[in-house]
Amino acid sequence: MNNPKAIYERPLEEMIGKLLEMGIKDFSVLDAMRRVPRHIFIDEALRSRAYENMSLPIGYKQTISQPYIVAKMTELLVRNSAKQNEKFEKILEIGSGCGYQSAVLSYFADEVHSVERIKQLVSKARENLSDLRIHNVLIKNRDGFEGWDEEIKYDGILCAAAPPEIPKSLLAFLKVGCCLVLPVGGSKSQKLKIVTKTKKGFDEQECENVSFVPMLGGTSK
Ligand code: SAH
Repeated sequence: MNNPKAIYERPLEEMIGKLLEMGIKDFSVLDAMRRVPRHIFIDEALRSRAYENMSLPIGYKQTISQPYIVAKMTELLVRNSAKQNEKFEKILEIGSGCGYQSAVLSYFADEVHSVERIKQLVSKARENLSDLRIHNVLIKNRDGFEGWDEEIKYDGILCAAAPPEIPKSLLAFLKVGCCLVLPVGGSKSQKLKIVTKTKKGFDEQECENVSFVPMLGGTSK
């Protein structure tokens, strides 16, 4: 059992079993979750817990999201888009953290643009993704409320930090028929929401209760 890959194979399969049990149905999502080794993203001291269904600290008062939440948000994003069975051109992610969700999203788009307000996490996420030879995720140290670039429209936007209300600035970056998946609310009560851009305006759906770190304005150098 000296091969690290072999050591984590069983816990990874158990994690996939748990995701199925918890209601994740999309096999392309389960497959992407199977392809991303979560232990790579976690400090050595906590690595033995890498495949437990829980969020874990990654430094700078931030966490890596719970595997169920990563799978659920990815499923909502790919299933609620007009482009359901096609690969997306571009996905925008807000809050790269250590890059775990970005790695999962990399299997669903030609390009993932991810913004993170904490500079040190930008470097950490870039390193993790480069170790996994994932080259279609670009990460920028930027305030997510501003998106990536005003000119680009996305097939899907996933926001991994909770703003107090739906940011109108992000909705402007969506293509028609595509959606923004995000937690909304304060520290006491947050709901996962899907906002779809229609020809006439926006459609809003509310899903389950969640608990995310807050989406803060500005960047931290
Ligand atoms: N996607 C991560 C989870 C990251 S936690 C995963 O795969 O596990 C949320 C991240 O959002 C934190 O790293 C936090 O620094 C970042 N964040 C909070 N507000 C932000 C903002 N306005 N712009 C960009 N990133 C933000």
